[in-house]
Formats: sequence, C-alpha cells, structure tokens
Amino acid sequence: MNKARVRFAPSPTGFVHVGSLLTALYDWLIARQTGGTFILRIEDTDQKRFVPGSVENLLSVLKKVGLNPDEGVMLDKDGKAVQKGKFGPYVQSERLDIYRKYADQLIESGDAYYCFCSEERLTALREEQEKNKQLTRYDGHCRDISLEEAKARVAGGEKYVIRQRVPQDETMIHNDIIRGEVKFPLDSIDDSVLMKSDGFPTYHLAVVVDDHLMEITHVIRAQEWLPSTPKHLLLYRSFGWSAPQFAHMSHLLNKDRSKLSKRQGDVAVEDYLTQGYLPEALLNFLATVGWNEGDGSEQEIYSLDELIRKFSLEKIHKTAAYFDREKLDWINGIYIRNLSVEKLTDLCLPYLESEIKNSKADMTYLRNIIALEQERLKKLADLPGLVSYFFVDLPDYPTEMLVWKKSTAEVTKKNIEMLFDFMFGLKKWDKEHLEKEIIGWIGDNKLTNGEVLWPLRVALTGLEKSPGPFEVAAVLGREKSLARIKSAIESL
Ligand code: GLU
Repeated sequence: MNKARVRFAPSPTGFVHVGSLLTALYDWLIARQTGGTFILRIEDTDQKRFVPGSVENLLSVLKKVGLNPDEGVMLDKDGKAVQKGKFGPYVQSERLDIYRKYADQLIESGDAYYCFCSEERLTALREEQEKNKQLTRYDGHCRDISLEEAKARVAGGEKYVIRQRVPQDETMIHNDIIRGEVKFPLDSIDDSVLMKSDGFPTYHLAVVVDDHLMEITHVIRAQEWLPSTPKHLLLYRSFGWSAPQFAHMSHLLNKDRSKLSKRQGDVAVEDYLTQGYLPEALLNFLATVGWNEGDGSEQEIYSLDELIRKFSLEKIHKTAAYFDREKLDWINGIYIRNLSVEKLTDLCLPYLESEIKNSKADMTYLRNIIALEQERLKKLADLPGLVSYFFVDLPDYPTEMLVWKKSTAEVTKKNIEMLFDFMFGLKKWDKEHLEKEIIGWIGDNKLTNGEVLWPLRVALTGLEKSPGPFEVAAVLGREKSLARIKSAIESL
C-alpha cells in the first residue's frame, strides 16, 4: 500500500469511548504499516456538545496507550495541546471561513440551496410525517426558489441554512473496504443541512472538505456513518474531487449481543486504564475484537509490531464485534505475567499507596508480594483486595474461620499449638523448606493436610481464599508468621 494518510476525528464530548480507541488504533496501524501519517483532527462543529477539557483528556489517553498523532492536534512537551502540520488548522471551529467558501461554491453550482424554513415549520412537518408514519425528512419546500430570489432574501437579512440538493433519480454505489458493495437509492436520502444558520458547517460538509484538503487516503469510522456516506460521495462529486477509501467498522456489542452501553463507567478508556488494564493488553484485545489475520489462525496475542505487520482493513469482520470482558481479563493477565516482577511492582505502587504508607513496607517485601500474585492477577486495581493482609499487624477474621470443615475448635487449637512449636524451631524460612518440613511433620504426626493447612492459611491471611500457606509464610517472614499463628491460638 502507498503511504496512507489517515485521520482520527473525534468530537470532544467528554471521555474516550473504547470504540473510539479502536478507530484510532486501526488508523494508527495503517499509518505505521504504510510508513504514512496518523492525523488527529478535532470535530467540534456541534458546539452544544462540546465539553471543555476533552481535547487534553483525549490526547493524554492517546499518549498513555502510545498512539500519538504524527500531525494535527497533539501534546507539546509541557502537556499543552498544540497543532502541527501544513494542512491546519486541525480544529474544525477554526476553519469556518474555509467551509463558507465551499458552501458558496455548492450554491453557485446548484448542488446546494438556501433554505429559509423556520424551526416551527420544520417541527410541524416532522410531527405531521410522524403522525402519518412517513419517513421524517425535509420536504424540499425551498428547493426551487430561484438563486436570484434566494440571494436577495439572504441580503435582506433573512435567516437561512444551506442544504444539499440530493438528486432523486439515481442509485449511488459505494465500495466499502469492510462491507463491500453497498447500494443507496438516493430518493431515500434527505436534503441534509450543510451549513447551519449560526455559520457553522454540519459534519457532512466539514468532513468532506477536510478529508479532501488534508489529503486523507482512508476514512476508517463507525458503522453508524455508513448511511451518511452517499451524501459525502455526492459532495465529492459536486466538488470534482476523488473520494478517499472508506472502511465502516461494526459496532461493539456485549457478549450477549446487547449494544455496548454508553455509560461512562463501562466504556471509558480512562476507566479501563485506571482499573489497571495495561495499555498494550487493551490494544491487543481491541485489535482482535473485530479482526483476525484469517487463514484459520486462532492467534489472540499480538505485539504491536506484529499487528503493524499483519493487520489489514480487508480482514476486519463485517459482523458485530464482541467486547468480551472475560477475554480482556485473560489477555491482561497474560501481559501481567510477561512483565518482570520489578516492572510489575513499579506499576502496582500507585494501587497500594495507602497500604504502603500505613505499613512502611520495603521494596523487597513488596516485590515478594507482587510475585506471589502475578500468576493470578487480572488487573492492577484488584490488588489491594487481594493482598491487604500483608500490610496489617494482624489480620482480622471471625475465629470460626480457623476451623476446618471436618474438624473442631479444640482439635484445631491443639494442632496449631503443636505446629507453632515445630515452626518456631525451623531454621530455613523459604517456601520450599517450609513446605517440605511441614508436610513431613503432618505425616509424622498422622494428621491430614486439611486440618493443619487450612487453619495455618487462615491464621496467616484471614481469608477464605488466598495463595497457599507456604508461599504466604515465606513472604511474611518468620516473625510475622509466628505472631499470626500465636494470635490465632489465643483466639481459639
Ligand atoms: N466526529 C465523528 C465522530 O466522532 C467522526 C466520524 C468520521 O470519522 O468521519 O464519530
């Protein structure tokens, strides 16, 4: 493929949706794969939906996951949003005079017309159409006003919008990279507004003008924009421009096929990062949600470099893509296990801030704790719940928990008293020795593993479920372990 120029063109309306990150990832992969350019453009023509701070937030999310733009809006070294590139400005609200010029050109060529219909008329029209169960659409009321008359009314200060004149007797054929050939009979397409009365363009005009002027080669966007594509293709034709290639991606669905909620907590990339999903794992997961390399491959784990080599828009699935959180957890677990303990501990520190502060734990102790959990950890924010018992003087639990299901309090007490004396005499305190010695001792005393190891583990952790007693005792060390067993004996 020639060098691609691809743009990620979000509207700054708050948090970053996982679906948006998926679009950005596809864009980025195509840019890297072709030695091309990943451009970030801000589509803020709908000023009512603008949320202050969203651009900076978006850029910081992209930075955290490593998808930094090559051109357009980006962060400078002080963390401020700046614009770079020769096709700017890259923020649509700063390009109003450009859109105005092209809207005027469409008026002159007859591909657009002035519309003076009032809000009241349009509302009444819509209500009437809804009542009659008709398609709600503009009825072409101002289509045939002569250009001369329309210009005179505009000059006279009448309020207007500019609408696209969609030919009614034609079928537009669109070839989508993902969806293949799609036919749009144009008589079902509305004369959409291109320029609003406040002087702002609508998405339709702005996206076409910008994609052309910024020399975009591939438009990768959500399926919800597919019905708008014939309008855009018509605009390209009206201007005499050749259109970029389009790839319309399927919606992300939950595993049960319901639509992925729009609620921030479920879909905000920021929240996934805060929960301790590793950026590389999140990208790996997203890349394989709606794509695989085909040829029967069942590969699920891809490094970014491998994705750059193997990814192709043609192999994105046409069918819905499932956002399966269990799979995300599984992939995140794999990335967590692939980290060195040192690196993982560094990443975990912010999640254990209060535990560390209260217990003055040192780095070796922390690394041992993390090494213990590394095997089963799914996301970093789960850590405090799993390991807080390492950071308290004595764990807090109901005494009955110490008693194994096939035993009694008296027997339990007797057993762990004996065990305490035995462990007190042990010289070496690592997992292997503890395991060998204690298992041997259980056998010598004709006891069962359950009646000894259950209370031992509860005494050390205070939990129904935890890693095994030998590894926990090894991490806690001799002194803390013995103190916990002693306290368990006293409570029985
Ligand atoms: N601003 C649009 C959005 O946020 C972009 C659509 C496109 O990529 O053309 O969905």
